[in-house]
Amino acid sequence: MNARPLMFFGTTNLDLCFNVERLPTPGESLMGALTRHPGGKGANQAVAAARLGLKPHFYTYLGDDDAGQSLLKSLMEAGVRTEAITVCAGEVSGLAVVMVADDGSNMIVIDPGANSKVGPDMIESATKFIERDAIVVAEMGMPIPALNRLFEMKREKGFELIFNPAPVRPGLPSAAWRNVDFVTPNQTEAFELTGIEVCDFESAARAAEKLLDLGPGAALITLGAQGAYYADCTGSFSLRAFPVKVVDTTAAGDAFNGAFAASLAQRLPLKEAVRKALAVAALCVTRRGAQSSMPTAQAVDEFLQ
Ligand code: ATP
Repeated sequence: MNARPLMFFGTTNLDLCFNVERLPTPGESLMGALTRHPGGKGANQAVAAARLGLKPHFYTYLGDDDAGQSLLKSLMEAGVRTEAITVCAGEVSGLAVVMVADDGSNMIVIDPGANSKVGPDMIESATKFIERDAIVVAEMGMPIPALNRLFEMKREKGFELIFNPAPVRPGLPSAAWRNVDFVTPNQTEAFELTGIEVCDFESAARAAEKLLDLGPGAALITLGAQGAYYADCTGSFSLRAFPVKVVDTTAAGDAFNGAFAASLAQRLPLKEAVRKALAVAALCVTRRGAQSSMPTAQAVDEFLQ
């Protein structure tokens, strides 16, 4: 059976990554090794799905600078469909300065650039790329009015909506939640949305119940090395994370969300889709980087054998 169409909406950044022995203190200058990588939550999620063999559309807003050109090229090379992407004259692309210390701790500063200029009208025109029976994934890096317009469009277009509320920001109208089919926070985001500290499956169950009260059809909370907890009005289940040797957890959540959406698009049953997302995220944390750490379909099949 053919895969369902899939489209991601979200941010794209050029990540300037400094590897440093330790993080600097205020006023201190340190030497570090600089590498440049494509990043941004939406872009990472779309690339995760493309690596699994899907041909997802992606909507993001890029500047007409060198960073924008290289980000667009890397998305195309990863197999992401870029026809919906807007490149805007005079804007700068999103940039993130990331410092990673030898002990794995990090500091990140983001200039959202063009990402912060997305308006509801742009979202409306991008939704012409949403095909019948599509799955749409949105993260929270886009301006709230744009996000809200996308959620409203669900009623006209009838797509299934996965909402990764990262990073949590205020301002989403309460009615918008009823358009969400799956909300997929991590532990921090679940706490920010519900006030419940999520430290295990038992507390995840309580947070999921509160999340469902907001109005989405289902809540799927990721708990890092512990796994994931799912609940909807008919029931719940939890699945443990795959034990792996962790090298770098950057973009683990993006790997999970991209793979969960891809698995639903490939019509896997719900529990299997969550299990595959756990496998993809587990493989992601065994490798360094964001998009470069997203595994191929073949690597995931071999891992799950
Ligand atoms: P990040 O911010 O690092 O991208 P996140 O905080 O959004 O991640 P997490 O809940 O930490 O999301 O992780 C997402 C998924 O990644 C987990 O549900 C799990 O499947 C996988 N994962 C994360 N850390 C580990 C780990 N140490 N071992 C195995 N799997 C992991």
